[in-house]
Order: sequence, then structure tokens, then C-alpha cells
Amino acid sequence: MQEEKKSENKQLEEKLFYKKESSWLDYDENREKEVFAFAEDYKDFIGKSKTERLCVKNIIEILEKSGFKTIDKFTSLKKGDKGYRVFKGKTVTAFVVGDDPASLRIIGSHLDSPRLDLKPNPLYQSHELALLQSHYYGGIKKFHWVNIPLELHGVIFTREGKEISLSIGSNPGDPLFIIPDLLPHLAKDQMKKEATKVIEGEELNIIFGHIPIRDKEIKEGIKLNILKYLNDRYGLIEEDFITAELEFVPAQRPIDIGLDRGLVAAYGHDDRVCVYSSLRALVDATDVSKTAIGYFSDKEETGSYGDTGAESFALINFASHYIRLTGLDLSPWMLLENAKAISADVTGAMDPTFSSVNDPQNVSYLGKGVSIEKYGGGGGKYNTNDAHAEYTQYMRHLAMKNKIPWQTGEMGKLDIGGGGTIAMFMSRYGMDCIDVGPCLLGMHSPCEVASKGDIFSAYLLYKAFFMD
Ligand code: MN
Ligand code: MN
Repeated sequence: MQEEKKSENKQLEEKLFYKKESSWLDYDENREKEVFAFAEDYKDFIGKSKTERLCVKNIIEILEKSGFKTIDKFTSLKKGDKGYRVFKGKTVTAFVVGDDPASLRIIGSHLDSPRLDLKPNPLYQSHELALLQSHYYGGIKKFHWVNIPLELHGVIFTREGKEISLSIGSNPGDPLFIIPDLLPHLAKDQMKKEATKVIEGEELNIIFGHIPIRDKEIKEGIKLNILKYLNDRYGLIEEDFITAELEFVPAQRPIDIGLDRGLVAAYGHDDRVCVYSSLRALVDATDVSKTAIGYFSDKEETGSYGDTGAESFALINFASHYIRLTGLDLSPWMLLENAKAISADVTGAMDPTFSSVNDPQNVSYLGKGVSIEKYGGGGGKYNTNDAHAEYTQYMRHLAMKNKIPWQTGEMGKLDIGGGGTIAMFMSRYGMDCIDVGPCLLGMHSPCEVASKGDIFSAYLLYKAFFMD
């Protein structure tokens, strides 16, 4: 059959209109295999990186396997050297020195995700149960966290100062934990409440035990039995909860979604999907002409404040250290001002069921490639770095040149809400910075959904950025 010749206007339409199609249409069979293989590696990583400490541990493992050494082992740095700096077990700055050590390419992501921490004195007994009072971390819909199995990870110090690492729930056969919701039969009043109050912060109490110690004289026998268990096994006493960072996270394993397995659901895509894809980009990048830096920050979900957050002086401290080792003759401030950066973070995807919160022509769609967002923030462009047109063009050109599927968008309609990233903190130094990352469904829920195609295109663009 002879192909119908396109009319002049049809050709004009194709030439002039901005149109993005699913990136899956561009992938041939081999590329699709790569996409799926990358997703399997990612699932393995994110499934065991459910807290910032675990994430840092697994980042280091990958770095060490790829020949990176801790920065303390270097007395000087030269082209090709691969190192990393860990700060307080919660952030990592990893680098590969390029031909031109005075030019930096930084990709910053965050390795914390919303979760349930504990109050300082959390353990109590009530109505035949021992429970833990939690203190939620980050922006959650609190009602998401009831009736789902939870794992426990973290550290706790004994009175003598011994550090105990706890990881309960991730191994087969481990017990798990849960916060039960009210049964619908008795929820008439609860169901009338507004959603922020359906489950309130003070109601996020986690079941920790149930069997009392065999002694009728003891009033709080269940609590005592739990403390006895913790003492027998780890040498802990109740006061030790004060000197602990114990985190409860969804026990959900990363899983494929859909018959075609094009999507992956997991806890903590925000932002470990960018952590992993930028880490892999750093490890896989070859022959970098500029120094490539992967900056994995903490505390983004609570505003990036604090010593391990991106609002701290982490980057400038690293730059000082780096200058000392490379012998560069410039100030750390100028080094950072001259850098180019990506704020690697996720954005919201168009949800067919809740499409009204988005402007359909300015939102990211699952599968259309990594999203390049000129700015994030909310309202009248608050809490963001609005990347310059020059730099946006640079990123667009980089994607085009390397044939990487990409799209753009904003998070939500203008007056509905918004969300911050670390772009505004990295850009303070004067470096060019733009948000680049995959879009998600169910963001900040215990089980977020991403397209395997977008995860892979994020990886490709991060790698192209490092190698440019
Ligand atoms: Mn994020
Ligand atoms: Mn977030």
C-alpha cells in the first residue's frame, strides 16, 4: 500500500507543535531489555535502602566496588581519581576528578524519605498491648500509615555507650509491626472528620508487643516483657530510647506493576530513584573531562535544614577539602560558582483519576522520559531556583544530542500547592542548577509508582551530564 503523502499543513503541524510521546515507542527490543535490567538493579538497591543510614551504607558499597576510596586516603588528587566523603553517616559526596579539576558537574539528590520516627520516651502499655509513640517525619498523609506492615531500622545506644544497630522485619521470618485503624463499624465520627484529622499524629502508635511477663504482681507486664527481651538480646533499658534513631518504614518490597511490568512500585522512590540513577551514572561515566560529583543529601523532606541537609555548608566544606587536595588556586566559593548542577529529584505525574489538580499541558506523564523542570516551588515561584533560559537550553540540548527521552512540566496547577527540592540551596553559590528527575504516582505514600522507562532516561541524562 502506498503511503499517503502528508499535506503541507500536516507537515507544518509536525514541525511546529511541541508534542511528546511515550518513550517506550522509541525503545527497540535491546533498549527495552536494558531498561528492565536497570530496573532490577534499582529494585535490589531501594529494597535494602529504606533509611538514610542504610542508603548511605549501600552507596558506599557500590562506590567501593567501583574503585572509589574515602577522601581521607588521598594526600593529593589528580585526573581519574575516584573518592568519596561520608558525613555523619547520613550524606555522601562522591567524585571522579576530570581533566579540568576546576570545572565541576554536580548532581545533588536526597536520600531521606517520609517515615515514622519515635518520640524520645515512646514505650507504653495499654489495654493488653505494648505500643510505641511515633513522631512522623516529612509530609505524609497520616492515614496512609495505618494497617500496613512496618519494618524497624536504626541505631540505639546503651547507657554504657555501646551502639546497637537494629534491623527487624527485612529478613524472612522476622516479625513486623503495625498501627491498626479503627474498624468501619465504629468509625461514624471518624469518617466525618477532615482527612488531616482522620488519623492524627498522636494516634500513630505502633504495636510492639502483646504477651505479659508471667507474674501477676507486675502491673505493666507486657511492657516489662518487651524491655526484658530488648535487655536480654541487646543490653538495652527503657532510657536508651532517648539516645536512639529508630525508624519505622513500610515493609513493602519493590514490585513490578501491570501485566507488562512497565512500572515499579516501592517505598522511597522520592528520592532514592535519583540517588541510585545518579550514583550509577557516576560509577558508569568514563573519561570525564570535568570533575563529576554525586552529592547525596539528607533532611530534604523536612526542609533541608540541619547539619546533614543541603542548606548546610556541606558543599562549601567539600569544595575546600577538594581544593586543598587538587592544589587549585581559587576559592571554594568561586569553584562552586563556576559549577554546573542538576537537582535530581522526582516530580508528580499526571494521575488519570486525579487529573484536575494538574494543567494537562504542563505536567509530567509516566513514560514520557525524565522530566526537566525549570523551577519547582509553589505559588508565585516561591522556594525554588528558577533556572535561566540559557541553562535550560543547555539541558535540552544535552538530552537531544544524546537522544534521551525527556519532557517538562510543573507540579500541579498554580494555586493548588507545590513542592521544594534542594535546587534552591545548591544554586545559592551561583552555580547553574535545574531540576531533573522522573515523575511519580502516589508520591510520599508508603508505595510510590514510577515508570521503568523514566528511571532509565534519568540515568542516561545524568550520565550524559557527567560526560559532557
Ligand atoms: Mn524529593
Ligand atoms: Mn519529597
